[in-house]
Amino acid sequence: MLTANELNFSGGPGALPKSVLTMVQQAIDSVPEVGLSILGISHRSRWFADVLAETEQNIRDLLSLPDSHAVLFLQGGATLQFSMIPMLLLSGSNKTAEYIETGYWSHKARVEAEKEGKVTLLWDGMKEGLDHLPHNADLAFSADAAYLHYVSNETVEGVQFHEVMGRDDVLRVCDMSSDFLSRPIDVNRFDIIYAHAQKNIGPAGVTVVIIRKSLLTRSQDHFPAMLDYRNHLKAQSNYNTPPVFSIYVVLLISRWLKNDIGGLANMAKINAEKAAALYRVIDESNGFYRGFAAVENRSLMNVVFNLATPALEADFLNYAASKGVSGLAGHRSLGGIRASIYNGMTLEAVQYLCQLMAEFSAKTSA
Ligand SMILES: *Cc1c(COP(=O)(O)O)cnc(C)c1O
Repeated sequence: MLTANELNFSGGPGALPKSVLTMVQQAIDSVPEVGLSILGISHRSRWFADVLAETEQNIRDLLSLPDSHAVLFLQGGATLQFSMIPMLLLSGSNKTAEYIETGYWSHKARVEAEKEGKVTLLWDGMKEGLDHLPHNADLAFSADAAYLHYVSNETVEGVQFHEVMGRDDVLRVCDMSSDFLSRPIDVNRFDIIYAHAQKNIGPAGVTVVIIRKSLLTRSQDHFPAMLDYRNHLKAQSNYNTPPVFSIYVVLLISRWLKNDIGGLANMAKINAEKAAALYRVIDESNGFYRGFAAVENRSLMNVVFNLATPALEADFLNYAASKGVSGLAGHRSLGGIRASIYNGMTLEAVQYLCQLMAEFSAKTSA
């Protein structure tokens, strides 16, 4: 029997693996190595310094991270990075930042960057349509740009880049909030990667920033202390009180990825299988279910689709709820249905949803 937590297809915060939830329950009562609740352990304790160090090391191991890059655990969500990054790389510069706007989140990022300096839109998804993505060959990248920004997986629309975008001689910045640690990546090709925890790797409250250390000299002394990456690096992500609980859960997830899953190549294989199962049901439904994304841009994390009418979609959501499934309503900006199948979602639960979709279309078409 799959539990309600296992059948939660929420877009975020996303479902976490059962084994990790069990350890979290234990830690709320008492962290085994400490004998105290995780909610009441000092962030200045030796134990928490070790938590930070091991979490960073696990992320380094999973991504084969080079020494050139720092790993920071920050607050303010991915949304604060929309501002901190242009503050670092654009404000006071006469260069232009290039943004690939492919959906809801990259739009938000671009609007914040415009407050700091000049921005060029290389791709305007609002005009081109949000159901597909450009290829590198479609975009007029400049060698002189301050940096390139894009979102690797548009969580709302369910489109995902399956190639690295941009030129290797221009700084490359990527919001990987909804596909971080879901597949291997070549970190050497990125200058800044950021991802909050609550889609793939933990609860809300902490954002992982992987930044090329040489960029930190761009910080300006008038920046507010909390918005200056140098302070967070110097304090090893313990500048002020960090979200101890959230970081501890990210540690448990990083251990789970290393030890239970066996690394990101395995995770990617499982994620591909889950997505393939759902898209197969959509493709074989004779148009009953209509995938939103162009086939080549389909997201392995967020499977977005429609039914013929909003009323039928509401019926489908009710049917799914009656079978114990939650979190399937599309994002408030787009409507429709969205099955989010982040790392924590099992193949078994996805297969359960596939079966339920087949039942619903058979029952409704009959
Ligand atoms: C959810 C999401 C965000 C917003 O993150 P917050 O942590 O709520 O600020 C940003 N980018 C992407 C790609 C997302 O999926």
